[in-house]
Amino acid sequence: MMTLARAIDVSRSYGSVLALDHVDLDVHAGELVGLLGPNGAGKSTLVNLLTGVRRPTGGRVELCGGDPRDPATRKVLGVTPQETGLPSALRVGEVVDFVRAHYPDPLGRDELLDRFGLGDLVRRQTGGLSGGQKRRVAVALAFVGRPRIVFLDEPTTGLDVAARHALWNGVRQFHAEGGTVVLTSHYLEEVEALASRVVVVGEGRVLADDSVAAVRGLVAIRRVSLTTAVPVPDLPGVVGTERDGDRTHLLTPDADRLVRDLVSGDVPFRDLEVRPTSLEEAFLTLTAA
Ligand code: ADP
Repeated sequence: MMTLARAIDVSRSYGSVLALDHVDLDVHAGELVGLLGPNGAGKSTLVNLLTGVRRPTGGRVELCGGDPRDPATRKVLGVTPQETGLPSALRVGEVVDFVRAHYPDPLGRDELLDRFGLGDLVRRQTGGLSGGQKRRVAVALAFVGRPRIVFLDEPTTGLDVAARHALWNGVRQFHAEGGTVVLTSHYLEEVEALASRVVVVGEGRVLADDSVAAVRGLVAIRRVSLTTAVPVPDLPGVVGTERDGDRTHLLTPDADRLVRDLVSGDVPFRDLEVRPTSLEEAFLTLTAA
């Protein structure tokens, strides 16, 4: 299998901040890889190194066997960084045509906009679009040049459900046709919806590189809250306990099992509540365990 993007023992510092700490990563042709981690984990830094926006302070990166800082190598690349600016006076169709003009064999304008559910916006000036619409246009532009590999940094932040699904459909179609995608997200749900392989990044290191199911077990921690007058006994699978007055919060990757154990253990409780934790909370729990 051909390796399209590779990080070999890569480190990157910003002054005294070590954003990446000896990271290795191989992305093969045809993969859709999710980089998952809380804010500040180093995901954008890794994408910026692999796409040639920044240089590593240690180690080496390769894109399609070449240096991502070399313009010839970057021809095969499509990118949507976290922040993008669109020329506000141009219409969406004009922006797409402008970007198309840079590539030898671009996608058709209408085909691209249809793929991302943006056909209705073709005549709208980008300055008048909502934040979510701008974001979708910016993501779609990464696909104009029929790239071999696309990097999307937090592609759906700020999008509503319908817009997020429209965007996912465009990404899935590209992948189904053999395209390679690396996307960053701090939402497990987004990575689950798109990727089969998940690379968990935390504090500048790769903490896990596995299937979605395996990573879900690692980071999908639930908070089970209950009111009880008696101390809750130690139960299997509980990775953290917090007390707040007569309320007890138990953190666990398997809330169903915990609730069954509470009932079968005759623990008297009321006002049971199960809710997901944020990825940040899950990481705190994992690193403290
Ligand atoms: P993520 O994308 O996972 O949120 P980043 O790669 O943006 O993480 O950031 C990783 C770390 O590097 C953070 O501590 C962040 O503050 C720091 N960092 C990122 N970019 C810069 C920069 N241009 N200057 C200084 N520090 C930075």
